[in-house]
Amino acid sequence: MPGKQAPAKRGASHADGVVKFLPAPLCGVYPAKEGPVIQEPCSCNAAKPARAACRPGNDCAPAILQKSNGLENGLNTIMRKPIIAGNWKMNKTVSEAVDFVEAIKRDLADIKGVDVVVCPPFTALQAVGNVIAGTAIGLGAQNMHWEKSGAFTGAVSAGMLRELYCHYVIIGHSERRSLFGETDSDVNRKVKTALASNLLPIVCVGETLKQRKAGKTESVLKTQIEKGLKNIEKKELKSLITAYEPIWAIGTGVTATPDQAQQGHQFIRGLLKGMSDEKTSQSIRIQYGGSVKPENAGELFQQPDIDGGLIGGASLDADSFVRIVKSVLCAG
Ligand code: PEP
Repeated sequence: MPGKQAPAKRGASHADGVVKFLPAPLCGVYPAKEGPVIQEPCSCNAAKPARAACRPGNDCAPAILQKSNGLENGLNTIMRKPIIAGNWKMNKTVSEAVDFVEAIKRDLADIKGVDVVVCPPFTALQAVGNVIAGTAIGLGAQNMHWEKSGAFTGAVSAGMLRELYCHYVIIGHSERRSLFGETDSDVNRKVKTALASNLLPIVCVGETLKQRKAGKTESVLKTQIEKGLKNIEKKELKSLITAYEPIWAIGTGVTATPDQAQQGHQFIRGLLKGMSDEKTSQSIRIQYGGSVKPENAGELFQQPDIDGGLIGGASLDADSFVRIVKSVLCAG
């Protein structure tokens, strides 16, 4: 049996008794208004009542609890709680966004064993946050600037997102890189600011088809991971999320095969190990993104290094998003 373990206070165990690596509690995510108080622990020790006490600006760095599944490998095998995030991109007006979250709330409000996140456009963050307040659904933004404030027309800061009870932020999505010229060093600055602001970054990496065909997949991923996550401390690396999104699979309907995706994830985990240690790398969640649909989600999520998905197109339809979320629970 493994040695000392922190007690798990949140998240469901799967039927096989495997226990979960639990991410940060949703501390300060929700407005302090009516609804159940979030009882989950937080490193700021403001869990009771979390909503009232843990406000944006508090120093409540993401807390992580872990347990072992007892498959001793000398390190305690760490299992990771899957996370499904819907990246809505430039879709849905405020009223459409509200209708959508009302619809998924019926199925996902109390979901356990998986973290569910919606990432609406900036304009809909507040309205969506109000609808999901008090539920298990988390709120994420699709981008942010690394500076606190200033003359950056059109940009939004981490502090602005925190005040809307955002808990996650997508950083370095391939569309930001290819359409808006975002570089690895921009990604690095954003990741650092997000972490310092108690936002959990979802850091996207992935190769183009041309790069894959030229046998450059690994070197592209290596550069993106090593530059994007440069000088990030181990304890912070643990709380961030990465997303492997082969660009040729994004919005194309062409999904990586489970083997191709697993290979990419395994390689990324190896890079993370090289930047930290085995235990840290085993604790980082890596989502797969690229034409995930209810029909292919289960097989992808069964892969050992795939910890859920970043979902674009299929996250815009309530029924398909809910089915994808549920398939991660079946995938074990
Ligand atoms: C994405 O944009 O992150 C994505 C994975 O999109 P899609 O699911 O539509 O391929």
